[in-house]
Amino acid sequence: MSVSDPDSVAALSGEADNVFRKHDHRKCRAGAMEEARKLCVARGVRLTPTRERVLDILLESHQALGAYDILERLHKEGRPGQPPVVYRALEFLVAQGFVHRLERLNAFAACAHGADGHEPLFLICSDCRQVAEAPLGALSAEIDHHADALGFSAQSRVVEVLGQCPSCREAAA
Ligand SMILES: [Zn+2]
Ligand SMILES: [Zn+2]
Ligand SMILES: [Zn+2]
Repeated sequence: MSVSDPDSVAALSGEADNVFRKHDHRKCRAGAMEEARKLCVARGVRLTPTRERVLDILLESHQALGAYDILERLHKEGRPGQPPVVYRALEFLVAQGFVHRLERLNAFAACAHGADGHEPLFLICSDCRQVAEAPLGALSAEIDHHADALGFSAQSRVVEVLGQCPSCREAAA
């Protein structure tokens, strides 16, 4: 396939966004933190040390973590805190769009796509709990169409797809 082939160009740009692929995660992590700091200043909200630490723990990888995993990490780092401290920090990070709550796993994952209040399609690996985001695209209108037909008003269009990521597929093969 040549690079001038429109299909291969599309595939390349999709690949840059694919967190399942090998990528410069240091850049990814630093960029997301930088963005969160900037947005907090712009919004006049405080990224307290606990909120920042919780976000950074989630940004270490694209893996979803439960609130208790995060609490355990904080305790190991010598930061005493009760579950409400972590829950309040997570609540703030979710409200600001820096972190997504994954209902199926009862866990949290840092947003890999900038905090723009989006409703992504989550692709969740049930083996390693890595999470990738894809745009909901036309699916969003499709959901509204079906909801409308039933006289239902859709408020949250979270779509969580469980499966196996490329590395876990490879490991299993
Ligand atoms: Zn990354
Ligand atoms: Zn996101
Ligand atoms: Zn996996």
